[in-house]
Amino acid sequence: NRADGFEQAALQSFNRGQREYFSFEGDGQQTFFRYMAPLVTTKPCLRCHAHQGYREGDIRGGISVSMPASEMLQQIKINRVYIILIAFGIIALIYAIIRYISRVFIGDLNRAEQQLQEMANRDFLTSLLNRREAYRRIQEEMARSVRTGLPLSFILFDIDHFKQLNDSHGHNAGDMVLTQLAVKLMAALRDYDIACRYGGEEFLVVAPETDEEQAFKLAERLRATIATTCFTTEDQELTLTVTISVGVAQLKQGETIEQVISRADGALYHAKHTGRNRVVAA
Ligand code: GH3
Ligand code: MG
Ligand code: MG
Repeated sequence: NRADGFEQAALQSFNRGQREYFSFEGDGQQTFFRYMAPLVTTKPCLRCHAHQGYREGDIRGGISVSMPASEMLQQIKINRVYIILIAFGIIALIYAIIRYISRVFIGDLNRAEQQLQEMANRDFLTSLLNRREAYRRIQEEMARSVRTGLPLSFILFDIDHFKQLNDSHGHNAGDMVLTQLAVKLMAALRDYDIACRYGGEEFLVVAPETDEEQAFKLAERLRATIATTCFTTEDQELTLTVTISVGVAQLKQGETIEQVISRADGALYHAKHTGRNRVVAA
């Protein structure tokens, strides 16, 4: 029962204080797991072996076992592949979930931001552009008009005797007229015309590529449309008609936005003082 190479190495390691020893060995076809533990002399051993000089605690050889390990190693390899695949799967899944959540979240945020921006740019009652946003767009149109030499016209109008309408039929009826008038207005304009609620019952339209004569015609059409529209409450209880007075001005060379609107306002004032329900060019 002479020790082979593995066992000799094991015994040497036991002499150095190690308490177990193992390694994998192959014979060309199979791989074996070899394991060895020391045989330590205990008190009962001394009964027979004391005369040979054994002492308690001495290491006198060892027990070595050997078992086929090819299948086990193969299984470990397969398991390792499974673990790697599962790890990749989990990482991919986490990545997909994060991508999905962030896309949904970012989409919601973008939509909310757009809605907020829209709300900030529009008049609450009529949903027309508010004056601030309209001025921003008008400045762009003015710059374009200067660059291209194409005409740009301003149409400012105000509802006639609106205070009286409020007083007779209530503020809600007045609001209803303003809302429906805004819808009529938008329907009468081109996509690239700019319309805003300029004040309480005053509206401003800026028409690109439109000279004063064309703007006058547009204003006249608007006036006639409003004058013949029946504004009706939701419950159909009340039907109202209103008229508007309109001032028209074409942007002159070198004019500021305030100057051209002031001329349109002058024309509107003139329309009010010459009978209302009319269009006057600056
Ligand atoms: P004019 O023909 O000279 O323009 O007379 P007017 O009564 O329309 O003019 P005035 O400036 O005296 O009155 C405007 C009225 O518009 C007064 C105000 O209460 C009303 N108004 C302004 N904003 C709103 C609004 O958002 N809703 C309602 N219902 N009324 C409004
Ligand atoms: Mg008015
Ligand atoms: Mg007014």
